[in-house]
Amino acid sequence: MKAMNEPDTDFRPPKPARGDEPAQRHCLRCKTAFASEGFGERICKRCKGQASWKSAIPTGDGGSRRRSAR
Ligand SMILES: [Zn+2]
Repeated sequence: MKAMNEPDTDFRPPKPARGDEPAQRHCLRCKTAFASEGFGERICKRCKGQASWKSAIPTGDGGSRRRSAR
């Protein structure tokens, strides 16, 4: 006797960790499709050129930004 609802589709080939490969991705800023070289590249070159997105990275400044001399 065979069950009708046999979990046939349960067998799925293990998906390789995709993402860390060159592919067409959408920029996180302008949503424009661009050729990304890897998973870490989510910003198109145009937006990168603006370099304004870098300011979003917390530098951990606690008010001592005036300390330019090291
Ligand atoms: Zn962009």
